[in-house]
Parts: sequence; C-alpha cells; structure tokens
Amino acid sequence: MKPTSFCSNSAETLPSVVKKIRNFVENEVIPQESLLAKNDQSELLALKEKAKRMGLYGNFYPEKLGGKFSRLTDYLPLAEEESRSEYGPMIFGSESTLDIHMLNHYADEAVKLNYLESLASGNIVASYAMTEPGTCGSIPDTLRATAQLKEGYWQINAKKWFICRADRAQLVAVVVCTGDESVPVSQRLSVLIVPADAEGFHIVGKNKIFGQHQGQCELELNNVMVPENFMLGGKGEGMAVIEQRLNFGRVLRSTYWLGLAQRCFDMMCYRLQTERNKAIGLADKQLIRQHVVKVYQALVGSRSLIYRAASELDNHLPADIAVKVAKLSTSQTLSLAVDSAIQIYGAEGVSEQTPLASIYQLARTTRILDGADEALISSVGKRLLNEYSDKHQEYSDKTKPTCKTTPIYKTPPISETPAISEKACIS
Ligand SMILES: Cc1cc2nc3c(=O)[nH]c(=O)nc-3n(C[C@H](O)[C@H](O)[C@H](O)COP(=O)(O)OP(=O)(O)OC[C@H]3O[C@@H](n4cnc5c(N)ncnc54)[C@H](O)[C@@H]3O)c2cc1C
Repeated sequence: MKPTSFCSNSAETLPSVVKKIRNFVENEVIPQESLLAKNDQSELLALKEKAKRMGLYGNFYPEKLGGKFSRLTDYLPLAEEESRSEYGPMIFGSESTLDIHMLNHYADEAVKLNYLESLASGNIVASYAMTEPGTCGSIPDTLRATAQLKEGYWQINAKKWFICRADRAQLVAVVVCTGDESVPVSQRLSVLIVPADAEGFHIVGKNKIFGQHQGQCELELNNVMVPENFMLGGKGEGMAVIEQRLNFGRVLRSTYWLGLAQRCFDMMCYRLQTERNKAIGLADKQLIRQHVVKVYQALVGSRSLIYRAASELDNHLPADIAVKVAKLSTSQTLSLAVDSAIQIYGAEGVSEQTPLASIYQLARTTRILDGADEALISSVGKRLLNEYSDKHQEYSDKTKPTCKTTPIYKTPPISETPAISEKACIS
C-alpha cells in the first residue's frame, strides 16, 4: 500500500481515508442496519448525503467525476472498508461504479452527457440486464433478446430477469442479439442503453431471493425504440463489453464480499472474547480455534488473490484466470466466514439480532451470480490444462526413468488388465 499513489486531487493519505470510512461504517451505518433492512429510504438517503458531505462518496469513479483513484489496487483497501456493511455500496455510491466506468469507456458522447453526471451525483442509478428466463445465464450463446436497426433507431424485444436495482433504475444496459444464429456469438451480441421510461419498457415482476424482494426484477421490452447512438461499443462488440465489465465487476464485488467476510471474522473473534464466553473457556477449545484459523487463512488467501487480479487489470495483462480464481475463492471465503460466525453465535446467529443471517443468504447467491462456480472452474481448468497440452511430450521425455533395474511392480500386459466400463469410471 503506497500512500503517495493516492488521491491525485486530494491532500489526504490513503490510511487516513481508510480510517474515515471505517469510522463512518462503524458509527453511522452499522447502528442503522436494522432500519436499512426494513428498506427505510429516508435513512439511506440521509447516510448517502452525509457520506457525500464528508467527501467519502464515489471513491472509485473516474477522476473527472470526483473519483480519487486511477488504479484498482489503490482502491481495494477502501472498498473493503466500505462494504463491512451490506448497505455500504449503496451509501458510498459504489453500486454505480461499474456502470459509470462502462459508460465512460464505451458510450457515445451524447449518452455520456445525458447520464454520467447524474449517475456520479447519485441522483439516478443504472441496471445491467443480461440473464433471461428460459435460457442458460452462464452461456451467452443461448440469449434470445433482439434488436433491429430501423431508420436510426434500435427496435428492442427482450425478456430479462433477476435484474438488480431494476425497481429504481432510470436506465438499463440491455444485452441483445444484433445478428442471427449464423453469426458467431463473439460477433452476435451488442449492449444498448435503454431509458426505463421508454415506451414498451415494463417491469412485469419482482424476483424474490430467499423469500424476500431485494431489488431484482423481471423485465419485458416490447418494441422499445432507442436512438442508434445508444449502443455501447459497436454493433456485435457486446462480448468485449460484457467481458470487460465482468472482469472488473468480479474484482470489485469480490472485494465487497471480502469486507463482509472480514466483519464476520471480527464478530466471531470478539464474541469469543466476551465475558459470557470467557466464563466457559470457549476460546480455549481446539475446535473453536479451528473455526478462527480456517477463516483467517481463507481471508488472507482471498485478499492476495484479489490483489493479484486487480494488479493484472491495472497493468492491462490478460487477467481472466486471476479474476475467476479470486471470485471463486472470495465467495467461498464469505460462505465459510459467515457460517463459522453463525455457529459461534449459536441461536442469535440465525436470528434477526445480528446481520449474520442476512449475510448468509447473500453469501449463497455469490456462488451463482457473476459466473456460477462450476462454469468458472470449468473455464479455468480448461485454460490451465491447455497450457500443458503441447508440452507433455517434452516433460515426459525429461522425466523418463534412467534406472536400469527391474521395477518392483510389473505392469500387466494390456490383455491381462481387467476391463473397466466407462460407467463405472464416472461413478
Ligand atoms: C442475487 C442475484 C442477482 C443477480 N443480478 C443480475 C443482474 O443484475 N443482471 C443480470 O443479467 N443477471 C443477474 N443475475 C442472474 C445471474 O447472473 C445468473 O443467475 C447466472 O449467470 C447463472 O445463470 P442461470 O441462473 O441462468 O443459471 P444456469 O446458467 O442455468 O446455471 C445453472 C447451474 O448449472 C451449472 N452450470 C452452468 N454452467 C456450467 C458449466 N459451464 N459447467 C458446469 N456446470 C455449469 C451450475 O451448477 C449452475 O449453477 C442475478 C442473480 C442473482 C441470484
């Protein structure tokens, strides 16, 4: 962490801002969490305004929009502090960071002029709509939404679901097909900005997560028309936009999850040191210490993987594997941290008396959104093995045994090897 690399537009050092954010979350946000959990909008707005007045809002926006950093690695310590509360990303404006960067990078100047300032000031929020009912969200090839260019306007027809913030967004970045199935998916998709008040744009349902509506909605776009220049990047360049957003978003969200995981760890350790638990010597028990060490180990591991991924993105290196591994690791860390903390808290842990039950639900979703575990593992595994595909001959030549003596175990000739059916292998 280098304080000198921080805040080109501020005299403050990074540690001092990190401390301010920590104090704000501890003293202003966490005491209000039970109100915020009831969707108290006036409390949320009041905290947001206070964060703005204290210069703690929009920390990783582009510099021209008030951001303090140009490098992701510099922002990470702050991001972790912002997200010790589930409500931090809303209060510090970080929920819009990804949309603002995407628009800043890919949008036409007129679109930027329309939306960027309002997004950065927190007056409006945006959504990103890719997943569709009836198709496989993990496989972009299956997307069915369409857009056709007609007299200077894109005519959009789409059904989307599980779209975050759609109930309060003023604009939605919608992923559509602008080519038919004969066009490879790498050139078939495009991303269009759609104002939420456009004719034909409807919120048709609310998707509940573990029985509660948390802002995700189901959308229908019926012949919605948007101007030609409302496209991000060019026609058919959607995959590049999506991949850049995903990589950047996975690192940001992993850092927010890490902030929550660290809080669960802190809660668990403080709880073990309370008089109540000291009296029964809970912290002296090995199985209890095992919870502490396993979570600590996971936290440290995930943090270093996130930094590695962020550093590769900062340096414009191919970051795909590092980003996916960091995301996989951090969602596992959050799940482990919250599960262990709940265990130590006993019944209180699963009640509404702590934030743990709510964090537990969030942790479960992290293994599905932003790339399901299996999809990421499959993709990383393939890439790792490919690295070895044309080198195995060289390796096996180098490692051929040079020993001339007879091996102790003699491999039976093929005909003697018992037949093993393929089915048996799989099971
Ligand atoms: C809380 C929440 C918020 C969300 N927010 C948004 C949003 O704002 N915008 C948006 O567009 N979407 C959003 N989503 C949707 C999310 O992106 C998708 O759920 C995700 O991409 C997975 O797609 P799917 O649900 O269609 O599952 P599928 O793709 O059908 O996958 C189901 C399961 O199949 C298995 N699987 C899939 N692919 C592979 C593979 N390659 N190898 C092995 N197994 C595999 C996995 O077990 C996976 O969990 C959100 C989802 C949740 C839960």
